[in-house]
Amino acid sequence: MFKALMLHEADGGKVEIRFEDLELARLPEGDVLVEVDYSTLNYKDGLVLKGLGKLVRTYPHVPGVDFAGTVAESGHPDFKPGDRVVLNGWRVGELHWGGYAQMARVKGDWLVPLPAALTTHQAMAIGTAGYTSMLSVMALQAHGIDPGSGPILVTGAAGGVGSVAVAILARLGYRVAAVTGRPEAQAYLTDLGATEIVARDELADPPSRPLDKERWAGCIDAVGGSMLARVLTQMQYRGAVAAVGLAGGSELNTTVIPFLLRGVNLLGIDSVMCPRAEREVAWQRLATDLPLDKLAEMEVDATLTDLPHLAGEILQGQVRGRVVVDLK
Ligand code: NDP
Repeated sequence: MFKALMLHEADGGKVEIRFEDLELARLPEGDVLVEVDYSTLNYKDGLVLKGLGKLVRTYPHVPGVDFAGTVAESGHPDFKPGDRVVLNGWRVGELHWGGYAQMARVKGDWLVPLPAALTTHQAMAIGTAGYTSMLSVMALQAHGIDPGSGPILVTGAAGGVGSVAVAILARLGYRVAAVTGRPEAQAYLTDLGATEIVARDELADPPSRPLDKERWAGCIDAVGGSMLARVLTQMQYRGAVAAVGLAGGSELNTTVIPFLLRGVNLLGIDSVMCPRAEREVAWQRLATDLPLDKLAEMEVDATLTDLPHLAGEILQGQVRGRVVVDLK
């Protein structure tokens, strides 16, 4: 028997959270059985736990879009019992049962070997949010943006994606401007390595003209909406924005002028179906390019029973840094 957080369909399209003891036979099919040490809470988990976004098709369902743990049984050639692994994406926690349980059975093709330098706790302090930050940094670098290019703007900076992005960029030598709506997060962001704090209000309104003063060589944007539209008008010549999130809205009302006159590029970042080779590079780079002392400052420890209220908090932008859910 193992413990799990289960979602059940309730009346009126709502979902009900129950804490249950399950038998291994209840787990879905898959060629690797993993004993889960830790999971985490992402914005998407908040949506799933609240029954929003139509992300889950069938109930009962075990949410949790990522987990780290140890292989217990394997029919996959790349994994054997005792291997430490991390999983995120592939619609685990949405279409497939996820990490909010002490055991998970999944396809071995979805698993990434955990770099030796990281513990399973650190892997989930990083989680999908942190791994996506790394994918964003890699995209900006592949576009030729280096520390000499100019400052990098990070929006939604005190959130999960933003916090890890600030810490990685600062470690790599970039000057980082952090956008936050929480004045009380300024010291936290400066400590992670931000050299400039930009108040959310400064960038919240839609742009009034197609081009503004050139300010940013790059941007990692977790917010979307009118903030992204505004940021596009402020990009330096040949700058690039990694579009990661929609915490402020999914619409994008812009003009093509920044693309045509300044050669600005908008780089889409998808963590979910990202090919395995790129994932492995991202996890390896997290082990070297993310300062682990800074990661420790972002961590908030939680258990399964904390998740119902934390789900509401993350959807309201009230969670700071990264929540690590202990399944041991
Ligand atoms: P968090 O909730 O931890 O962070 C989001 C941050 O955005 C908040 O902390 C807040 O930062 C800011 N924010 C919230 N609401 C608003 C608003 N209305 N206007 C402006 N800023 C706002 O979430 P995550 O970091 O986990 O995820 C961030 C986004 O990235 C989400 O939209 C998520 O879905 C997306 N994402 C996408 C992935 C992909 O594959 N593309 C993978 C992972 C996440 P502050 O308080 O500092 O202002």
